[in-house]
Amino acid sequence: MPELPEVETIKMGLERYLIGHIITDVQINSPIVFSGNKKLLLGSKIVKVRRFGKVLSIDLSSKFSILIHVKLTGQPIYRGPNLKNPPQMSKKVIGGLPGKHTHVIFKLDKNGFLYYNDVRKFGWIKVIKTSDVEKTGFIGKLGPEPFNDLTFDKFKEILGKSKTNIKVLLMNQEKIAGVGNIYANDALWLSKIDPKNISNTISNKMAKELYNALLKVLKEGIKRGGASELNFVTPDGTEGSYQEHFLVYGQDKKTCPRCKKTKIVKIKLGGRGTYYCPNCQK
Ligand SMILES: [Zn+2]
Repeated sequence: MPELPEVETIKMGLERYLIGHIITDVQINSPIVFSGNKKLLLGSKIVKVRRFGKVLSIDLSSKFSILIHVKLTGQPIYRGPNLKNPPQMSKKVIGGLPGKHTHVIFKLDKNGFLYYNDVRKFGWIKVIKTSDVEKTGFIGKLGPEPFNDLTFDKFKEILGKSKTNIKVLLMNQEKIAGVGNIYANDALWLSKIDPKNISNTISNKMAKELYNALLKVLKEGIKRGGASELNFVTPDGTEGSYQEHFLVYGQDKKTCPRCKKTKIVKIKLGGRGTYYCPNCQK
């Protein structure tokens, strides 16, 4: 599922393309994906794009916002005057644009379009008041954002209060916002911590290593435009490249790139594929 770096990449693209556009019509092909009154959006200007964990908020001049959670395979893609030479579309945009997986089309002024494609249809779009965005159930419960309010002291406090496996804790959105399976695996490998370790038994020194590693892998993910596994594409319809730079995620049976002795092992932890080197992660 797209995580902080992927959703941040979508946010930056939408910010670049959408701000200043006016929504002139909304075509809903799959009502299951869309909730709220589309009429509240018509005629309003897009003024801001924000990210909360893995959720996006497109804020309008009318004081309403469009929340988008892309879940596993959602793809918001822009075409219009703010993208003068659209690049070749990734094959991950299944069915083309618009196509059979295009569930919502936001028609914009100046012949602009924001398409929402989603093969699996787990993602959703909601219209709510901008003043309600930060209190809405899902967003209101999010833990601190790694690049904003997650200080090391806060991180240490979160670890100290938890008796779950450290990897499961890192992925808990109510504890820390935006971290999912890819970046939790890679941060633990980078900091040489066994993903099975119990959170409140991790030493101050190792917690610091993990904190730094987490910020480092998230930054690297953003720099690479996210990881295009499954159907992740950026809002211009192209792919990110972090999948070419995974440290340990998805690398089972390969030799550990650090110790070069042991093969990466895959286990299940909290129901999710967990990759680690039993030799260098203790
Ligand atoms: Zn190793």
